[in-house]
Amino acid sequence: MQQDAEHSTQYGDQYIDGEWRPSLDAGSIPVLNPATEQVLATVPAGGTADVAAAVAAARRAARGWAATSREERLGPLTRLRDGLAGCQEEIAATVVAELGAPVGFATAVHAGLPVAVAGSYLALLADYPFEERIGNSVVLAEPAGVVAAITPWNYPLHQIVAKVVPALAAGCPVVLKPAEDTPLVARLFARLVDEAGFPAGVFNLVTGTGAAAGTALVGHPEVDVVSFTGSTAVGRTVAETAGRGIKRVALELGGKSANVVLPGADLARAVNVNIANVFANSGQTCSAWTRLLVHQDQYEEAVALAAKAAAKYVPGDPADPRTRIGPVVSARQRERVRGYITGALAEGARLVVGGADAPAGLETGFYVLPTILADVTNDMTVAQEEVFGPVLAVLAYRDEEHAAELANGTEYGLAGGVWAADTATAAAFARRLDTGQVDLNGGRFNPLAPFGGYKNSGLGRELGRHGLEEFLQHKSLQY
Ligand code: NAD
Repeated sequence: MQQDAEHSTQYGDQYIDGEWRPSLDAGSIPVLNPATEQVLATVPAGGTADVAAAVAAARRAARGWAATSREERLGPLTRLRDGLAGCQEEIAATVVAELGAPVGFATAVHAGLPVAVAGSYLALLADYPFEERIGNSVVLAEPAGVVAAITPWNYPLHQIVAKVVPALAAGCPVVLKPAEDTPLVARLFARLVDEAGFPAGVFNLVTGTGAAAGTALVGHPEVDVVSFTGSTAVGRTVAETAGRGIKRVALELGGKSANVVLPGADLARAVNVNIANVFANSGQTCSAWTRLLVHQDQYEEAVALAAKAAAKYVPGDPADPRTRIGPVVSARQRERVRGYITGALAEGARLVVGGADAPAGLETGFYVLPTILADVTNDMTVAQEEVFGPVLAVLAYRDEEHAAELANGTEYGLAGGVWAADTATAAAFARRLDTGQVDLNGGRFNPLAPFGGYKNSGLGRELGRHGLEEFLQHKSLQY
């Protein structure tokens, strides 16, 4: 995928109604390699015409797809999962090229996780109770209709699979509008859907900007469900438009998650895991633990441990298997992250490692130094707003009450961590947190557990049974 401007591929087509066809809208979007700043490809900037064609195709397919049995849906969904499993190298190479994720991480997470998530929906679909008896009623769980799926760039294939696969499993046709920065893995996904043999119109892809294609899709009267992942600011607009159309809406938005280390915990392990968590994917993870909360008596020890762990993260070429941290996705994102670092220092934070300068020897590419900020207080901008880059803020707390108050003291509530001497103590503390997910003493990510936010981190849940149910509506028959 390493092409320069003259040799980049110019795609002019969208995947609509079971085939690749020329875009009906004017304009194109360049896709850059964030490590080289070169143009990898251009994709069509779809707008109202492509969206209208895609939604019309989905609407035509809706009744037929809704009427299929679970076995009829399992056939193409299984082939899609197998297609994802068989293309992991190509998926990883595409995500390395358009997102800048290090190849090891791209292979394990960007390519590996979608296979696991798709597989989890095959198992769920095989025995989900689409009918249940409640008293004198039989309650049917029916598909909720035409789905608009709008996804961001940070986990570009995972976020597509986490919406499209449960929607298709539920019996809903989908129109996908992926992020402008990472449309190539979305095109690869559309190719795999095509090869899996779904009926025409059940899945459609429209690449384009949020302002044009995204707005047209959310406002389209024939869309029944909007499943959006992205920023809280855009999520608010999406929810307003969806609300006017009485469309169901699911929002997976931003986060400012806290990792709380209680006295008695394994401090070194808690800090090391936090560093790996916050620097993974160059910090572009909505659920990242961007605030490390440590008791004031252990504060300097924790800061020193964090600095030591951070030394292992040297920015470099994401295609090199030794690289742990690549660039951020775009020049805009790099400037945003650097702005947060400069702003935090101006507000009184202490720079432990990193900073706003470009890493030495990496003048080309959208690189940011992995950065740790100490002496951060919860009223600082860097403790309140989502940075979406490799930046960790370390905060001190006085006692458990204060720790809970700090952890809950942002507009967000997506994820978090608690470390304690034992699981029971960690679980008791986790119950006090206003957040959708909490990992206790380094508990592993579970692709079957509901994922989503409290407060301004969103509405609804993705993954597992809860994710499937976002695409179902209920009909009660009394007899
Ligand atoms: P973004 O909100 O700018 O864009 C997300 C998607 O929405 C893109 O496809 C974009 O084209 C589209 N969009 C933009 N404006 C639109 C509009 N007016 N109407 C319809 N669609 C529109 O976000 P981003 O910068 O691409 O992604 C980063 C953000 O996403 C971060 O805030 C991050 O926390 C959040 N995120 C959340 C989760 C989660 O599951 N909670 C996961 C990943 C990312």
